[in-house]
Amino acid sequence: MIVVMKVGSPEAEVARLSQELTEWGLTPEKIVGKHKVVLGLVGETASLDPLQIQEVSPWIETVLRVEKPFKRVSREFRHGEASQVSVSTPEGPVLFGEHHPLVIVAGPCSVENEEMIVETALRVKAAGAKFLRGGAYKPRTSPYSFQGHGESALSLLAAAREASGLGIITEVMDTADLDKIAEVADFLQIGARNMHNFSLLKKVGAQDKPVLLKRGMSATIDEWLMAAEYILAAGNSNVILCERGIRTFDRKYARNTLDLSVLPVLRSLTHLPIMIDPSHGTGKAEYVPTMAMAAIAAGTDSLMIEVHPNPAKALSDGPQSLTPERFDSLVKEMEVIGKAVGRWAQPAVALV
Ligand code: PEP
Ligand code: MN
Repeated sequence: MIVVMKVGSPEAEVARLSQELTEWGLTPEKIVGKHKVVLGLVGETASLDPLQIQEVSPWIETVLRVEKPFKRVSREFRHGEASQVSVSTPEGPVLFGEHHPLVIVAGPCSVENEEMIVETALRVKAAGAKFLRGGAYKPRTSPYSFQGHGESALSLLAAAREASGLGIITEVMDTADLDKIAEVADFLQIGARNMHNFSLLKKVGAQDKPVLLKRGMSATIDEWLMAAEYILAAGNSNVILCERGIRTFDRKYARNTLDLSVLPVLRSLTHLPIMIDPSHGTGKAEYVPTMAMAAIAAGTDSLMIEVHPNPAKALSDGPQSLTPERFDSLVKEMEVIGKAVGRWAQPAVALV
């Protein structure tokens, strides 16, 4: 349920109302929107009559039921307003959300050695990326494939962060690694294979680094949003949803089916920012640029693109990785679409 307060409601009255609703056994969450304050109510609301709540304060404009199974992530919970997620970088916070410019995350699938990660960081930074991606702990289908360098790769990510000024995003596979990853990463990735790992979701929800939640490869949108609900319910509302392609009947030409229809669907269902990953979404470098541009045209808030200095030699996901040169030209192509939809950050004007 949500309680929408009238414009100009005194803060003391909102606090009194929250206190009273807490005494009723509910958990009110105050959301300060552009125009109004909303109290999102979580708990046993099914038996409550909205009119009962309405009577508690003359400052209540309306009380509405959230009909969806997901509450905190639902758009209704914020009375229709989009949320923004701020992620730190050495050069200051970067904002993700539908009222902000497109944010580009780029880098290799895995961190292989210091030279390649630092080189890739500098190249993608020069092209326009704000975050470097790179796996230290890799979820691989085969136990005999490269599993990532683990802890030693974390210090290489720290070196790349220092050298480039980019924020770092890397995947957490195991709750046991969370603390050491959070020391280096500005942003934690939950991979597609772990979208249903509820103990991991609770754990990243109980810490304060922002979380990128990838869609499980066979997850419905409702299941994905319920996974996000776990993170918000545990206390962390800084969540970004990442579409990375789903399994469909036809995998002959593309590794996955990149579901760009999630853009308008998620917009209507949730207030959370959205990222699209055309690299895992297609599995082939030659298809990545087209889908990246389509994602911008369809309104994505951010993109994740795999870039490797020598894709043919990559230890994982080489076939879908762009060279730094191709990434460079892609960003120039994306700028045209980004500007057309009003989502391109203006470069700082050089002072002469
Ligand atoms: C990755 O980002 O390298 C990755 C393993 O992604 P996903 O979880 O989407 O497969
Ligand atoms: Mn990958």
